[in-house]
Amino acid sequence: MDCIFCKIIEGTIPSSKVYESEHVLAFKDIQPAAPVHILIIPKKHIPTMNEVADEDDAVIAELFSAARHIAREQGVAEAGYRLINNVNSDGGQVVYHLHLHLLGGSKLGPLLADKLS
Ligand code: AMP
Ligand code: ZN
Repeated sequence: MDCIFCKIIEGTIPSSKVYESEHVLAFKDIQPAAPVHILIIPKKHIPTMNEVADEDDAVIAELFSAARHIAREQGVAEAGYRLINNVNSDGGQVVYHLHLHLLGGSKLGPLLADKLS
């Protein structure tokens, strides 16, 4: 499958891994948008949030438990951080393998860079 995140899971593309559990992998974003910018992905190839099935409930729960663990480990849990899941074109999704962005380490500012007028 021609998916960059699946290749990271397979190990054929390198990554800076920060966390791994049975169904989840997390690694540093190659173009960080904040001092802490980690991508948290399921090992199962799910293209977007729209394709998450009922049978994936445990995987989704594991994504969020990974986020809690990583936030503590990266030292941003108390100061705060943001989790983002971009979906499809309007959401700005570029890589079509479900992922959470964990961003922190500084004040992140308003939710959207360009608000609708
Ligand atoms: P999204 O726009 O939500 O699909 O975000 C995709 C993210 O993947 C972007 O923030 C990219 O910087 C990041 N990314 C793309 N390729 C890699 C890679 N090989 N290693 C780490 N992060 C990557
Ligand atoms: Zn994939």
